[in-house]
Amino acid sequence: MRSKLFAAMAACLLPAMACAEAPAEPSRAGPPKLLVIISIDQFSANLWDEYRPQFTAGLARIGQGAAFHNGYQSHAATETCPGHSTILTGDHPSRTGIIGNIWIDQSVKRSDVSIYCAEDENVQGSSSASYTVSPGHLLVPTLGELLKLARPGSRNVAVAGKDRAAVMMTGHDVDQRWYWNGKQFVTDHKGAPVPQTILKANDAIGRALNEYRQPMTSTPYCLSKARAIKIENSEKTVGGGLFARNAQDAAAFRASPELDGDTLAIAAGLVDEMKLGRGADPDVLAISLSATDYVGHTYGTEGEEMCLQLLELDREVGDFLKFLDSRGVDYAVALTADHGGKDVPERERLVGVPGAKRVDPALAAGTMGLKLVKQLGLNGFGLLGEGTSGDMYIDRGLAPRDRERLLAAAVAAYRAHPQVEAVFTAKQLSATPVATTPPTQWNLIQRARASYYPGRSGDFVVLLKKDVTPIFDTSYYVATHGSVWDYDRRVPVLFWRPGMLPAPSEAAVETTDIMPTLAAWIGLHIAPGSIDGHCLAGVVACPARQAGGTERGKR
Ligand SMILES: [Zn+2]
Repeated sequence: MRSKLFAAMAACLLPAMACAEAPAEPSRAGPPKLLVIISIDQFSANLWDEYRPQFTAGLARIGQGAAFHNGYQSHAATETCPGHSTILTGDHPSRTGIIGNIWIDQSVKRSDVSIYCAEDENVQGSSSASYTVSPGHLLVPTLGELLKLARPGSRNVAVAGKDRAAVMMTGHDVDQRWYWNGKQFVTDHKGAPVPQTILKANDAIGRALNEYRQPMTSTPYCLSKARAIKIENSEKTVGGGLFARNAQDAAAFRASPELDGDTLAIAAGLVDEMKLGRGADPDVLAISLSATDYVGHTYGTEGEEMCLQLLELDREVGDFLKFLDSRGVDYAVALTADHGGKDVPERERLVGVPGAKRVDPALAAGTMGLKLVKQLGLNGFGLLGEGTSGDMYIDRGLAPRDRERLLAAAVAAYRAHPQVEAVFTAKQLSATPVATTPPTQWNLIQRARASYYPGRSGDFVVLLKKDVTPIFDTSYYVATHGSVWDYDRRVPVLFWRPGMLPAPSEAAVETTDIMPTLAAWIGLHIAPGSIDGHCLAGVVACPARQAGGTERGKR
């Protein structure tokens, strides 16, 4: 299962590679020359804590630096696009504007009112399902963009399993940005020549996809998790999968270690081809590894499948670090996740979470909307929303007075449901300040406030009770994330550089703290108060004014 592509990249098969050069021993006295930011999609701190003793390669190394296992994607809407938008901007979604993977805009000049977070909806023919990728919705600059402003020789590069991850970690001003589109690695950035790495990688992946893939060999630890779990209202059974794949099965490709191995192989190829970390100015390389998320959604988080995925990921990240070592690049790594995740309720009920259940379909926005308009004697669909929770929008086709009646009725109906923990209106959220206390102390309205951006957020937001999985139709995915609860909010935040002494910490930190910490590491000035995050004094020497009263590493 190890990425054949990676071996090819790392063995210098690319003509443009500089790897014939003898690796220089990096000097680690000054700032690192290459910042590598790895986001592992859906890698909850629960998984990190559980698997850390099993890791022996890359994740073990990165865990031996400044390791915060109480990191937080502090906001309520714990999804991929908002999560990635916090990591390299230093801002909560209330500032990045990325409130969800999808939101509703009833003023848009097209029939599809769902807006994808990383699309340009003004392009003719773009829809939320078949979209034109764009960073247009991201309202704040990223670390790579600020670095390029200060140091014009710096490069801002991303490779990811998902377009939204690559876009949100790099922003508007990029040098290379590549992501898997279901068939190949592509870009929305047309300003630079296509690297040889990409051409070779797409060719190799295309050939690999044409072939049947043998099942993986399990390990004793992963075998201990192999137990068949029947998914309710479904023919599906999860828990004992070994990632065998039929030829041309692209969905099985991405929900397996193959996708991450190939993503890292491309990252390695770009390091060589672009000579990242070898110029006068430091470079930023953002890597988002998406397979853990697809594995979690497809099989849940506590079966043999996730076990094999994470152990393989550990080896793949290890190969990537060894590759950087072999090139003599002076690099530093930050590793985190865009959100956490939760197992399938069917397995959770067997292991001590008796209350785990699937959401009541009656909570779906469309179903609830039609019920309420009938009760109130109104016309139209009533409510718009992406599911059974999160942002909900009142039909703008209704008269203002009827909208008010419907809002009051909807808030009351959701609040009365036994699976609903809280409902907040846009009015309540806009009157709430964004919290500045440690993320462990945030109450529910503060979590929802950090996900609120006027004009994009709903007329109200529905938060489900703990241990309610917001998927009732299990024909596609069986498990998910997206809640306000810590299993979805708490993620590892790890910093490591070769030679760094281990510094594990129990302090509660935020993913918004990563950007200012990395900025301090390379000596990039961030204006005090310009972002939500804080430089972590336990990791680097922070600028005096930022470290002051809000020194996060100490709390
Ligand atoms: Zn995600």
